Amino acid sequence: MQPVWLSVDSDDLRHIPSSQGHPTRSKGVGHQGTSDQMKKAMLSFRKWLDSTQVSLTVFVIADQLDDEIFSKWLKDLLDSHPQITVGCHGLTHRCWSAFPPDEQGLLAALVEADVQLHQFAGDQWRPWFRAPAGYIAPWMAPVIAKAGFELDSSVNPSWLTRKKAGPWKDWNAVKKALKDSGLVSMPWLTKFGLPTCGPALSIFPLSLIAKSAWKKLGPAVMPDEAVATVYWHILDHGRNKGTWKPPLNFG
Ligand SMILES: [Zn+2]
Repeated sequence: MQPVWLSVDSDDLRHIPSSQGHPTRSKGVGHQGTSDQMKKAMLSFRKWLDSTQVSLTVFVIADQLDDEIFSKWLKDLLDSHPQITVGCHGLTHRCWSAFPPDEQGLLAALVEADVQLHQFAGDQWRPWFRAPAGYIAPWMAPVIAKAGFELDSSVNPSWLTRKKAGPWKDWNAVKKALKDSGLVSMPWLTKFGLPTCGPALSIFPLSLIAKSAWKKLGPAVMPDEAVATVYWHILDHGRNKGTWKPPLNFG
């Protein structure tokens, strides 16, 4: 077994790149507030957490705190589960590495997100960052460090996702930039060079490979003790009429 750091991303439907945050993938008008699909998923996720009591990190998009339904739900979750920590999944869900480099814009967004999330989560806040939709380029690393973050969990080291890694489409260049900036890098679990996290959990045939890799994971630990890192979306808990669970052998 492999001690694993579990994390979930809090994206609502309006954050998905097809809706907003990407220069070519985003079509149409972004929605507001918490969607009905998300509300159902939040209930199912909470039920699962109450029954398993696992330790995990929720990567939150700071703009979700403006929505009362989401912020009340998260506050109650954090108060009931002191083992849960909060990291930053952006101020918005802007896919930074899909746009030309913008150090000033990224720094301003990260500092604002950091202040809002820290204030909200208090002792449960951690200076940990996950780039929206996993879009991270080498130029972003020193900016993430400058904004006060200590750990990055954005790298999905697979050839399938290399377009997200900036101008050289090279995950090793991103990892080196993170290291050179003094950040701890926690890349997502892959198998046979293929992704196993996030959307890979529900895209056939990646889902088969993902499930077999996840079965070998456990127990749940924090990043400093972890051998592997995986994530899924709170929205996933709305699948199969709310019965969906991450394919772990525990929890
Ligand atoms: Zn996301």
